[in-house]
Amino acid sequence: MHRILIVEDEQDIADLIGFNLQRAGFEVLKAHDGITGTDTALRERPDLIVLDLMLPGRDGYAVFRELRRDARTSAIPVIMLTARAQTEDRIQGLQAGADDYLTKPFSPKELLLRVQAILKRAEGTPGTVDLSYGPFRFDKNALKFYIDGQPAELTSTEFKLLLFLCERAGKPQDRNELLRTIWGYSDAAHSRTLDTHMKRLRQKLGSRGSLIETVRGVGYRVAKAAE
Ligand code: CA
Repeated sequence: MHRILIVEDEQDIADLIGFNLQRAGFEVLKAHDGITGTDTALRERPDLIVLDLMLPGRDGYAVFRELRRDARTSAIPVIMLTARAQTEDRIQGLQAGADDYLTKPFSPKELLLRVQAILKRAEGTPGTVDLSYGPFRFDKNALKFYIDGQPAELTSTEFKLLLFLCERAGKPQDRNELLRTIWGYSDAAHSRTLDTHMKRLRQKLGSRGSLIETVRGVGYRVAKAAE
């Protein structure tokens, strides 16, 4: 059973989310301020964290940065929540490396779909553990990634995104298809999510980032490997 930590000071929202996740078969932990949230995450190591940004004690960004810095929690997927609808907040959250982002008010059903999509992709595909592609190597079981033999830090979303492109190398992948497969989105309203992740991913790949090509009017492609 997957365990989900909800860090949210608004009791009714935490209860509503918690109720819906429990009903869908998840075990739920709750914390109502940033400090307790950080402590609970480090102690319990949940499978996923739903993190509100406006929190007493320590705000969500600070909690997020601390969890990403600590090896015990650095790979745990995070969905950020905020009441602020501004695009800039969303972009800031995604640039910080959050796996997904929801603006209040949202439906519990939407959150559930996002949670399920993230956990599904974090599990990888059993049986085919390793994939090598040009300078990249993916260890699907451990979710570890290497560039030219050197370990590199990718979030679970970046890992899945790059793996998806490499498994289909040479073929352009449609933007909407990527949003649907990697994030579980059913419409194109989240286009900037994809571009923000892709920009970050390219930066992390350094000189190898150029292997990801933008295909105008379609989406993205990883060039066929020359080996
Ligand atoms: Ca709040």
